[in-house]
Amino acid sequence: MTLTKKPESRPAPASWGLASGENPWEYAPAPEATDHITLQPEYGLFIGNESRPAKPRKTFTVINPATEEPLAKVAHASKADVGRAVATAKEAHRSSWSKLPGRERAKYLYRIARLMQERSREFAVVESMNSGKPIKESRDVDVPLAAAHFFYYAGWADKLDYAFPHRQPRSLGVAAQVIPWNFPLLMLAWKIAPALAAGNTVILKPASTTPLTAYLFADVVRQADLPPGVVNIITGPGEIGMELVTHPDVAKVAFTGSTAVGKMIARAVAGSGKKVTLELGGKAANIVFDDAPLDQAIEGIINGIYFNQGEVCCAGSRLFVQESVYEPLIDKLKARLGTLRVGDPLDKNTDVGAINSAGQLAKIQELVESGIAEGAEIFQPDCVLPDKGFFFRPTLFTGVSQSHRIAQEEIFGPVLSVLTFRTPEEAIEKANNTPYGLSAGVWTEKGSRIFKMVSAMRAGVVWANTFNRFDPTSPFGGYKESGYGREGGIHGLGAYLDMSGANGTS
Ligand code: NDP
Repeated sequence: MTLTKKPESRPAPASWGLASGENPWEYAPAPEATDHITLQPEYGLFIGNESRPAKPRKTFTVINPATEEPLAKVAHASKADVGRAVATAKEAHRSSWSKLPGRERAKYLYRIARLMQERSREFAVVESMNSGKPIKESRDVDVPLAAAHFFYYAGWADKLDYAFPHRQPRSLGVAAQVIPWNFPLLMLAWKIAPALAAGNTVILKPASTTPLTAYLFADVVRQADLPPGVVNIITGPGEIGMELVTHPDVAKVAFTGSTAVGKMIARAVAGSGKKVTLELGGKAANIVFDDAPLDQAIEGIINGIYFNQGEVCCAGSRLFVQESVYEPLIDKLKARLGTLRVGDPLDKNTDVGAINSAGQLAKIQELVESGIAEGAEIFQPDCVLPDKGFFFRPTLFTGVSQSHRIAQEEIFGPVLSVLTFRTPEEAIEKANNTPYGLSAGVWTEKGSRIFKMVSAMRAGVVWANTFNRFDPTSPFGGYKESGYGREGGIHGLGAYLDMSGANGTS
């Protein structure tokens, strides 16, 4: 990685009692075992509970972003494969899944959830190897939350009439689901669990860099003995995603990814009658008032932007600090940044793992260079990055103005832009000055201020005195260029149901 400025190194606080230059944290390596993982050399498309090569047979290679070593080959679906997957899903909806009573669908979902829990170590390790995220996050966040989504929606499967009284909820049919690479398994669960609970069948297209936990999930589908064709997984480039969402037999489209692709999908399916939810980018404001407990806020800021290397659509990438606490907060933040451990995602002590791809790393670097060129002041801890793989130092920019690209554009990396404010009104105006509206955070001791801020922020989720908390029962989604529709909770279930009372199929 190159940067035009040498990272600034800061000594540990005197209260830590260390000699000059002494490294405060020296952990022994604690690598997670990988001997329980068996990756296949090649993964076929998962259609009708069978693994099939693409027709014509074509593959692409998936790598480990922390080592740049190949992990496996996966099938490169063709247009004809998309047709086959949709036909299979349509037939499964007609002949089996839509005919099953909700309590029977629930049993399958509970079974999937339990199998995911049983195989959680396997899922966590494969997720970290393929995405670059630290094992402690895939183990403690992604996998348990993914299983929790299946448990949660299993509970709704036989209660649709109670969830939506007098609305005659019916399944839609075939759902096409295109997901990104930042939370491959969790996004799969966000998409598949409510779709199945509502009685739909699905075709999921994972991101091309991170399909491996989806294929592991395919194995769980087989183990759970789901009727063939209820869950189908196809891999291939973006065009295959477009082919899938525009297929005439697809009734529902769910997409998570960039705003640019979200807009293309919205245009392509406009007027088709398909139900659509889009969960796109963000540039969240994390607002710290002078009465906030600073040490707690520091942890929230760190979790808000450096969790999952900042590759999070709802990341707290713009920090607004009330001027009166600016200096102590920045001092504490820089000291805390110096303790983050960057490196091997499979090491249990790692806080910041690998960026998902060379392309994403280049995008982060370009935006960081723009921040420097536009006059913001960069701070990076002086940590040593591994020789191979796609790594980027946790980065903090001060002296940022609203017009800087790093304050406007989604960086999707471990880069925080710090701005200041004096009054709540100024904080609200600056926080809302973005084309996005996905999430926000407020740190203050005053309950009344929390309510005032929450109602004034144009963001789908506003966290108070915490950040990046997710729960299957809670709806998630955005305003403006962050997309539309909600996932999670009862709202996420409604997105997979026809409640017009006229043309349902189940
Ligand atoms: P994309 O939006 O391109 O990718 C997301 C998913 O959409 C992937 O499965 C991708 O497939 C697929 N896709 C790509 N092009 C099309 C298309 N024309 N029609 C249908 N599906 C398509 O995101 P990128 O990976 O390119 O990331 C770019 C930026 O997007 C990031 O830097 C970040 O700012 C933002 N982003 C936001 C996310 C979020 O959670 N909101 C998640 C990921 C990225 P394939 O992988 O094969 O290209």
